[in-house]
Amino acid sequence: MALPTEEYEAALDRAATRAREWLASLATRPVPPRRDADSLLQDLDGPLPDEGSDAAAVVDMLADAVEPGLMAIPSGRFFGWVMGGTLPAALGADWLTSAWDQNSGLRYATPGTVVVEEVAGRWILDLLGLPDGADVGFVTGGTMANFTGLAAGRQQVLTDAGWDLDRRGLTGAPRVRVLVGAERHVTVDLALRYLGLGEPEVVAADDQGRLVADALQEALAGVTGPTIVCLQAGNLHSGAFDPLETATTLAHAKGAWVHVDGAFGLWAAASPRLAHLTAGVERADSWATDAHKTLNVPYDCGIAIVARPEPLRRAMGSHASYFIPDEAGDPMDKVPELSRRARGVPVWATLRCLGRAGIAALVDRLAANASALASGFSGIDGAEVLNDVVFTQVCCAFGDDARTREVTARVLADGTAWMSGSQWRARAVMRASVSNWSTDDADVAVSVDAVRRAVAAVG
Ligand SMILES: *Cc1c(COP(=O)(O)O)cnc(C)c1O
Repeated sequence: MALPTEEYEAALDRAATRAREWLASLATRPVPPRRDADSLLQDLDGPLPDEGSDAAAVVDMLADAVEPGLMAIPSGRFFGWVMGGTLPAALGADWLTSAWDQNSGLRYATPGTVVVEEVAGRWILDLLGLPDGADVGFVTGGTMANFTGLAAGRQQVLTDAGWDLDRRGLTGAPRVRVLVGAERHVTVDLALRYLGLGEPEVVAADDQGRLVADALQEALAGVTGPTIVCLQAGNLHSGAFDPLETATTLAHAKGAWVHVDGAFGLWAAASPRLAHLTAGVERADSWATDAHKTLNVPYDCGIAIVARPEPLRRAMGSHASYFIPDEAGDPMDKVPELSRRARGVPVWATLRCLGRAGIAALVDRLAANASALASGFSGIDGAEVLNDVVFTQVCCAFGDDARTREVTARVLADGTAWMSGSQWRARAVMRASVSNWSTDDADVAVSVDAVRRAVAAVG
């Protein structure tokens, strides 16, 4: 059948118009949604209609229904969690990726998008200073990137211990010890649960949340069997980096696999000014990072990188008579999914658009804006920045916990800027995470003013 060109055109025109309206609103709109989920649901809920509707009308219906419930995450005044906006080239490429609808699991079947991802993968290894020939897989996010790297690690350390994981599974296998820093991200624990490895052993962290190398050495002293050490590049409260070089040396001396969770922080390696934070990172065995955070491509896009392809492909590869495998290796052998969106395409577009210098400038700008926010906060009476601002994260307290929570709640209610509350090192904090390419000096200034107003209102 001939595709209904007119119907596509009408739907895409409406989508483009509504997207443009949304993007144009970001400069001035308050960051938080105007309505909450329960109230939106009352309007949208109901039985599935028997009769369908026109495609363009559905796009409009959707945009109307959702608009009051949108958080302005792509705004330069959004500093919540660790999120990041979307660069124009990434958004354009993402739209094309949807239109092309390439199931990018097999090289033979979808060569166009697969080679774009292969090139993007090589550029990422080069930018981050990771070993040539490492496998790069595009997954949904940092969680699955951690899962993928740790799965390869589990495969390798059990093989080293003489255990055939593929045939026998985990039942009866030698215990795999997993050592993590006290302030690793929760998704590391989640990935270990997916992998049947249970709770990790916790190694002490210092006042910035960095794993303490001496404590790791002590923890490793009695270790003999299969072991994984999971390090962090970028602590979500402080932005701090574990002592990657020393910790990797200690772990490798025990034959352990080293995985690095660098969801947002690994990109420091792409900046000559900040690369010192990731010194030694290239010596690890696997790495997890997100493109949808620091690199500012749309959700969902994480990147799993594994130095040695063999254990990864044994962990993730599969074979069936109806696949058409390529000798060069297929994307499906490097990620948990078989069918998969070509989510590496927006990554290629971002890298191609910014170039090496542009990526470094992006990372530097995020860090510089975090420093500017921190110095702005420090100038507010009673405010105290708790972390050394080495990268993109700022943790601030405003006296005791109750007062910090009250100030944070007022900042959120004001809506000019969005910074979430948290608890760090036994204190309530207001966190600001600078992850958006579009944040500029004016955004920083009005956001500091908003915090100043909140502090004044609390008194
Ligand atoms: C965000 C984050 C993750 C999880 O990544 P998702 O993309 O949300 O799955 C893991 N580790 C760190 C340090 C993070 O900041």
